[in-house]
Amino acid sequence: MHYKGIVIHPDELSNYWLDRLEGTDINFLGIHPVGKSYHGETVAEAVEWVQKPETQQLLQRAEAMGIAVEYEMHALNWLIPRELFAEHPDWFRMNENGERVADYNCCPSNPEVLEYLADRAAELAGIFKTSSGRYHFWTDDVPEPKCHCPKCRELTASDEAVLMYNAMNKGVRRAQPDAGVSYLAYDIAIDAPEKVKPDEGIFLEFAPMKRNTSRAICDPESEMNKQAIAPVGRLLEVFGHKNAQVLEYWLDNSWFSGWARPMKRFDFPRDIVALDSAWYDRAGFETMTCFACYLGEEYHETTGDEVDIEAYSQALGILAK
Ligand SMILES: [Zn+2]
Repeated sequence: MHYKGIVIHPDELSNYWLDRLEGTDINFLGIHPVGKSYHGETVAEAVEWVQKPETQQLLQRAEAMGIAVEYEMHALNWLIPRELFAEHPDWFRMNENGERVADYNCCPSNPEVLEYLADRAAELAGIFKTSSGRYHFWTDDVPEPKCHCPKCRELTASDEAVLMYNAMNKGVRRAQPDAGVSYLAYDIAIDAPEKVKPDEGIFLEFAPMKRNTSRAICDPESEMNKQAIAPVGRLLEVFGHKNAQVLEYWLDNSWFSGWARPMKRFDFPRDIVALDSAWYDRAGFETMTCFACYLGEEYHETTGDEVDIEAYSQALGILAK
C-alpha cells in the first residue's frame, strides 16, 4: 500500500482536521505525541488519550474515510520504565565515564532487556492498534543516547537502534505476524547500520530534519541538502523499499513557530513539496508524509487562516493511488 499523509499532535485530532481531509486523497494520518518524550510522559498521556470515547469516535471516522491512522512516538522511556534501574542496572546504557545511567534508551547488547522490550512493544501495539500493522515506537529523541559498554562500544548508534527495533518488531509480530516497526533514520541514527541487520518487517522511515526547507532536497547547490540525502541510497539498500516512508517537515508549523505559541501564519512551500516528493518517489519511497503540527483548529481560530491541504495532496502527485 502506498500512502500519502500528514502527522499531527494527538490534541489536534478533531472533526475540523477530518473535514479538511475529506475529499482529498490523503490516506494516512500519523499521530505524534509532542515533546518531553524522554520522560515517557507524553506516551503515557497518549495512552490515556487514545482510550477516550471521543478519540475513538474520531479514529473511527478517519478509518471510515479510508485513512490509515498510525502512531509515531519516541517511546523508549515508556517501554523500559526508568524505575527498573534499581533492580536491573545492566539493562541501562553506560555513559562515557563507564557508569550505568537510567536516562535514555537502554543497553541493547543485553538480551534480557531486549526480551522485556519485545513484551512492552507488544503491549503498546495492543493499545495503539493499527489496521495497517505498521508501528512507530522510536528510540529516545536526544543527541547522545548511545551505550558505551564494552559490547556496545563497537556498534554505531544506528546499529544499537536496529537491535532495539528488532526486539520491538519481534514483539508486535506475535499478535500480528505481518506487522512491522519503523526504523527512524533521524539525527544520530540517520545513517544505515553497519554491523546489525534489520529483521523482516522493519521498514525505513526517513526524517531529514537537518535540511534546508527553502531549497529542494535534491538541489545540488544546497550543501545541507546534499548531506541530508547522502545516506538515502544505503538506507534503502539495507531496509528495502517495501513500506519505506518519508517523514518530512514541509507543513511543520510547530517548527516554524519555534515549537511555542503563538502559532505563526504559515504558507507551505508547494514547489519544494512537488520537487522533493518527485525525488523521493524516484528514489523508491512508497509513503510520503510530513509533520503538519500547529495547523489544526486552534491555528484556524487564532490566525483566521487555513492550510490548503488539497494543494499539498496535489503537490505530492499521484503517488498514493
Ligand atoms: Zn551496552
